[in-house]
Amino acid sequence: MRKSFLGIMVLVITAVLLSGFCLNSVVLAKDMQKAEYEYWNSAGRRAGNQAFELMKQNGVSPQKENLIVLTNAGYAEIGNSSTMGFIYGLSNVTGCKRGNNTLEEIHARYDAPLWCAVYDKVSGYCAYLQLKSSKISGDIQKAPVSEIFGITTVERINADYLYANAETYNKKFGEKIFGGNEFRVVTIANAVAKGVPAYAVRAFEYHDHYCPGVTSGIMMVNYLKKNFSPMPDGSYFVQSVQPWCKEDALMTLLNATPGKGGYSALYSTEADRATWKPEAKDSSTIVYRKDKNTKKWDGVVLGFKWTDAGCKDFGKVSIMTKLCQDLRYLKKLDQPEDFVKEIKRFELPAGQTPKDRARPGVDPMKLLGLAE
Ligand SMILES: [Zn+2]
Repeated sequence: MRKSFLGIMVLVITAVLLSGFCLNSVVLAKDMQKAEYEYWNSAGRRAGNQAFELMKQNGVSPQKENLIVLTNAGYAEIGNSSTMGFIYGLSNVTGCKRGNNTLEEIHARYDAPLWCAVYDKVSGYCAYLQLKSSKISGDIQKAPVSEIFGITTVERINADYLYANAETYNKKFGEKIFGGNEFRVVTIANAVAKGVPAYAVRAFEYHDHYCPGVTSGIMMVNYLKKNFSPMPDGSYFVQSVQPWCKEDALMTLLNATPGKGGYSALYSTEADRATWKPEAKDSSTIVYRKDKNTKKWDGVVLGFKWTDAGCKDFGKVSIMTKLCQDLRYLKKLDQPEDFVKEIKRFELPAGQTPKDRARPGVDPMKLLGLAE
């Protein structure tokens, strides 16, 4: 009797100690999260103020209502810590916000350096700041600039100025003045300044830059909205037979993702495409939709016709060449019929689903009678 009483006491004491330990570790984790948030919030404020300082040194007085901010904060991690708080601090100082499409969150891998760009759409000046790869130990508001930032630079990057000074900027961008982020900063900042729709920015953010390729995906989505909309409560299944940048726009805007069983991509080679029938040569994307009542799927095979954007050639790899094409296509986002070509409409036999046509070794183009 006495023995079991002692046993119970030992158990009770152990349980109390353990629960105290667990409680302490939860409190500790919360404190750490709070400290992490405070640090990055402060870093974001420091970066915003530093951007203003850089602009002022170039004779620009930035006004909050004219600014656009781009950053990969929240994706980039530093020292195993989330940099999400950086967004809030930067937003606080610059006045840029998600809700009015002036704060763009650019997709990045977790180990990418943390950066931000503050663009003044009136003067065309853009301050670019890239943080060093480790946190600093002291007060980030008081630390010297060189201790916090690896790159602090300011450049005029509005499209017309870049076109007029293409040679100089081909060289500057080649030297990676924005830490290798020149293309994404220049294209997205200029597009947002020109009033690009918010849905298109979602696609740029996910794709991490704005290029003619991602535009073709946005146009395909606009084409589907008008000509092949899903049944109520229905979903799309997208099957790419010639993947390029468009995939990221299709995934983002249709919320058709491989993880949710809504996307498949086949990386066809030139030799594969040589077997496609002449009328199907431009096929790139098959889109399926399901009728909720009949449970049957129908689909459409789409191609994309590139047209000459009528841009000056600033050099094959020049950012300016692509920027000009981007901005020309931007005006045509609501004319998808001029670019998207329907190659075939079809129905799947009863009981078949698009996944049946996305299995290893299955050629969907052959099943559609579009390949030899
Ligand atoms: Zn791209």
